[in-house]
Amino acid sequence: MHQSSPLQDENAAPVGMRYRTLGKTQLEVSVIGFGASPLGNVYANVDPAGCSRAVHFAIDQGINFFDVSPFYGLTLAESRLGQALEGRRKEVILATKCGRYGTDVFDFSSTHIREGLDASLKRLRTDYVDLLQVHDVEFGDVNQIIHETIPTMRRLQEEGKARYIGITGYPPQMLVKIMEAVPVDAVLSYCRYDLLCNDLDTVLVPSAERQGIGVINASALHMGILSDRHAPDWHPAPASVREAGGQAAEFCRIQGENLSELALQFCFEYSRVASTLVGMSDVEEVRRNLRAFYTLPNREVLREVTTMLAPVFNYRWASGR
Ligand code: NAD
Repeated sequence: MHQSSPLQDENAAPVGMRYRTLGKTQLEVSVIGFGASPLGNVYANVDPAGCSRAVHFAIDQGINFFDVSPFYGLTLAESRLGQALEGRRKEVILATKCGRYGTDVFDFSSTHIREGLDASLKRLRTDYVDLLQVHDVEFGDVNQIIHETIPTMRRLQEEGKARYIGITGYPPQMLVKIMEAVPVDAVLSYCRYDLLCNDLDTVLVPSAERQGIGVINASALHMGILSDRHAPDWHPAPASVREAGGQAAEFCRIQGENLSELALQFCFEYSRVASTLVGMSDVEEVRRNLRAFYTLPNREVLREVTTMLAPVFNYRWASGR
């Protein structure tokens, strides 16, 4: 069953976008968020002009939440996003990160958090971010994050350089441990609530709800596995999970459906998170993902795909120390 989509008239103002409050903050984020890591050529080399058009098109369609990090493309994604947001900064809720600057480059010290944010602000062409997040806490020392990194971020908040602060990472248990030790405004995890995993719902969300912490669900396509394209070589999931994704994509194709759109529809129906981030870098991707946002999933195909993915459901890889 399909709902009518505001996308049908591309010149019309966005009328159907839904927004949710991120925890106890004053940030009203769009339920579909723009993941900007692909702007840094993380998945494939992308056209910078196409990235800019994608960002503008997303804003025009009511997407207001943009997430990036200095890690993505080793600062390239931030630079491209900053350029695209020139003149439109006030229309968006901008989140970036600190502490991770390369595949094996981490520094959660107070000095680097400060320097890192100043460098991010320059690239993003702004003097504040709406949300500053520690990037991938599992690679840091928990005590340092609790007693040094987060207090430094609170000072940056007092100085007006970040409106709110949060933490991100892969293992929900570690995120819970940190947010139960020190107050944060938001928490982001990835590949933990989608057609291949659900422990964001069982582990992270209950703790976040108790504390009023806003939750962001990232990588709704399981970093490219839930799509009809090949997942990148660096993807940490084993062959069995990639193959299951490929089979599900083929099954959807035969049914006249699209796995990515189905995977997104599944996530958009989950209301215990404020926003679901999907990585995008061209207008066509934004358009397809908005079409998924404005339509309901084919329940029968969804059921079949869920059954197909059951043997690899909740597979998790090791991440961090
Ligand atoms: P994702 O699961 O959103 O997949 C992105 C890939 O899917 C890209 O290659 C993109 O081009 C492709 N894609 C998008 N729409 C598609 C469609 N309709 N059909 C086919 N392919 C499509 O993974 P992601 O980009 O890594 O995650 C989303 C965002 O979440 C990131 O950009 C980032 O902002 C955030 N994130 C944060 C962390 C962290 O903080 N630790 C980790 C992962 C992701």
